[in-house]
Amino acid sequence: MQTDTHSPLASPLVPPLMGQMMSQPLSISSIIQFAARHYGGSEIVSRRIEPDIAGLHRYTYRDCELRARRLAQALRDRGVTMGERVGTLAWNGYRHLELYYAVSGSGAVLHTINPRLHPEQIAWIVNHAEDRLLFFDLTFLPLVEAIAPHCAGVKAFVLMSDRAHMPAASSVPNLLCYEELVAAFEGDYAWPRFDENAAAALCYTSGTTGNPKGALYSHRSTVLHAYASALPNVLNVGAMDTVLPVVPMFHVNAWGLPYSVLLSGAKMVFPGARLDGKSLYDLFEAEGVTFSAGVPTVWLGLIHYALQNGLRFSTFRRTVIGGSACPPAMMDTLIDKFGVQVIHGWGMTEMSPLGTTGGLLARHLKLPKEAQRRILQKQGHAIFGVDMKIVDDEGAELPWDGNSAGDLLVKGPWIVSGYFRQEGGDVLRDGWFPTGDVATIDPDGFMQITDRSKDVIKSGGEWIGSIDLENIAMGHPGVLQAACIGVRHPKWDERPLLLVVRKPGPRVTREELLGFFEGKIAKFWMPDDVVFVEALPIGGTGKVQKNKLRELYQSHLSSS
Ligand code: AMP
Repeated sequence: MQTDTHSPLASPLVPPLMGQMMSQPLSISSIIQFAARHYGGSEIVSRRIEPDIAGLHRYTYRDCELRARRLAQALRDRGVTMGERVGTLAWNGYRHLELYYAVSGSGAVLHTINPRLHPEQIAWIVNHAEDRLLFFDLTFLPLVEAIAPHCAGVKAFVLMSDRAHMPAASSVPNLLCYEELVAAFEGDYAWPRFDENAAAALCYTSGTTGNPKGALYSHRSTVLHAYASALPNVLNVGAMDTVLPVVPMFHVNAWGLPYSVLLSGAKMVFPGARLDGKSLYDLFEAEGVTFSAGVPTVWLGLIHYALQNGLRFSTFRRTVIGGSACPPAMMDTLIDKFGVQVIHGWGMTEMSPLGTTGGLLARHLKLPKEAQRRILQKQGHAIFGVDMKIVDDEGAELPWDGNSAGDLLVKGPWIVSGYFRQEGGDVLRDGWFPTGDVATIDPDGFMQITDRSKDVIKSGGEWIGSIDLENIAMGHPGVLQAACIGVRHPKWDERPLLLVVRKPGPRVTREELLGFFEGKIAKFWMPDDVVFVEALPIGGTGKVQKNKLRELYQSHLSSS
C-alpha cells in the first residue's frame, strides 16, 4: 500500500534560506511569445472551415503570435476586461488557436464550448459562464442563430471568417467579422503580466447527469500541465514531430496540445471539421503527421478506411488514445498492422485533462509481447504532478496489487479544487478529487479503469467489469463496437447485457459471440443476452452514452 508521505515543515524559528531565482509568473502568453521567438518558423497548417476555399491554410508560429496580439487589442477595444469570459464554438483551426492565446494572454477567460451538445444546453452554458463575446466557425451559424435569442448577456457574436463569408442577412444580433477585428489593429501590444493563479480557461464537463459544471483552469495549472504533458513518458512531443490533434479544441483544450505543441516547436496540423477516415488519412499523408491524439471512435473510422483500401501510413508513428477505454483489438491493429505506437491516456475535464499515460518500464522489455501488451492496455502510470489512490466504500486506501478495485481519487496542481461558481459545493474528499472512476493499481503504479462508478454492474452483490466484457467482444473479428450495461434482473438485481454493432461481412451470431467469452471470464460474468444494433448512441465527447442504453434496455431481461 502507498501512504501519504508529508515531511514535517522546517521549524518556524529558523527562517528558510530563500532561493535567488528570478520570479516570473507562469503565463499562457509566455508560451506563444517563446514559440514565436525561438521556433518562429515552425508551421501551423489548417484545413479550412469555409467549404468554398480550396487548399490548406499555412502560416508560422511567428504569424500566429502577431495575429493573436492584434486580436488581443480588438478584445480590449470591445471592452473585454480581466477575468471576463469569451466563448468559442469552433473546430481545430488556426483562428481557434489565435483565440486560445489572445483571450487568455490578455487576461480574459477562454470558454470553449462543445458544439455537439444540445442547443438548449449550449445556451445554458453560455449564460452560466456569462460569456461577453461569442466567437464561432461558419459551420455553427445556424446553431448561433438558434441560441442567440436566449443569450441576452452576449454583447457581440463574432463569425470566425472574412467579409466574403458573412451572411447577407442574419437574425444574430451584433454580428461581427473576425478578420475585420484583426485587421483593425497593428499588434503593437505588450502581453500583460498578472498573477499566475488568474483564471485562463473554462470548460464544462459533459454533464451526462444534471447540469454541466465548469472547470476553471488557471495560467499556472495550464503551463504546468503543458510542461508535464510534453515529457517522454507522457506525449513525448518534440520539435521533430508533426502533430495532428483530432481531439477537439472545444473539449478539455485538445488534451493541452495547443500549448504543449507550441512550447516544443513541433509542426501543427489542424483537421478542421473533417474527421472521417479518408479526410484524416489524406491529411496525415500530405503533411507527414508523426503524432496524433483522439478518442477510440475516431480511430475506428481511420483504421477501417485504411484497412478497406489496403493503405499504410508513411510517417505516422505514435498516437495517444483516451477519453474512453482503448479496446485492445484497436491497439493490436495499430501496433501490429500499422506500426503505430499506442499510448493509452486517461484523464478528465477536471484534470486539465491528463492524469496517466501508458507505457513500459525498462524491465518490462524482457517480457513476452502478450505480457507487454497487457501493461500497455492499462490506462497507465501517473504523470509527475498527479498523485492517485484507490479507496474502498469507507474511504480506506486499498493496496496496489493490481486486483483490488476501488474509487479512484487524485490530487495535483492541475486538478480542480471545486467547480466554477461553487456548483456542487465542496467536491474534495480530504483534499483529494473523487474521479467517479473505479480502478486497480498494480505494484509498478500502473492504473487500470474497470468501470465508471455509475456504470458498474452489480449482479447478486458481485461486481462485473463492463469494460473487460466490451474489450473481449471487440476482440471478435465480426464486432465493430460493443457496449455492456447492467439491466434489471428478477433474481440477481442486475445482469450484463451486451449491445453490439457488427462489422460488415460475415454476420456474427449471438451464440458465436457468447462462445467467444468461454474460458476468458468467470462464469457469472457471461452476458445474459446480446442485442445487435445498427449504431450505439455517442455523446458530444465521443463516448458511448450508457445512460441512454440503460433507459432503452433496462427491462430487456425482466420483461422477457
Ligand atoms: P471527460 O471529462 O469528458 O473527459 O470524461 C472523463 C471520463 O472519461 C473519465 O472519468 C473516465 O471515466 C473516462 N475516460 C477517460 N479516458 C479514459 C480511458 N483511457 N479509459 C477509460 N475511461 C476513460
